[in-house]
Amino acid sequence: MTQTQSQSSVATKRISTYLTLIVLIVAALAIIAIVIAAGVYASDPNNSTNVLTSGFFALIGLVALTMSLFTLYQSRRQTAEMKIEIPKVMTTIQCTNKSCDAKTVREFQRGDYVFKELDTPCQKCSGRQMITAVYKEVKEKEKTYNV
Ligand SMILES: [Zn+2]
Repeated sequence: MTQTQSQSSVATKRISTYLTLIVLIVAALAIIAIVIAAGVYASDPNNSTNVLTSGFFALIGLVALTMSLFTLYQSRRQTAEMKIEIPKVMTTIQCTNKSCDAKTVREFQRGDYVFKELDTPCQKCSGRQMITAVYKEVKEKEKTYNV
């Protein structure tokens, strides 16, 4: 894992933990509101003011609960998207020997740059190897969403 990948995943984790905490507080308040509504209604169902108050509390509770669940769902989806968006960086290594021209592709390592000559010799002709390309790997097929 490269440094950039670990940094972004830490940031994602921090955001989701913070968001989850808020969502849980809102959900708890929503449940309290619904409980109050039920309590007020149960105390005197014939009193019109009580019915109105309980209806009001129930509405607040339901709206808040729906919003918190929706936020949680959205954040989960966003986290999943962010994970997919981290592209794999690949390095292409080619043998400098024109008659050999062996080509290998491996994951990017720290200190890789184009035209860098490598210490490890070519496996075929034991000639010098050079980095000819550093690029992001694009995988469109991996963009699937967990619903
Ligand atoms: Zn070679």
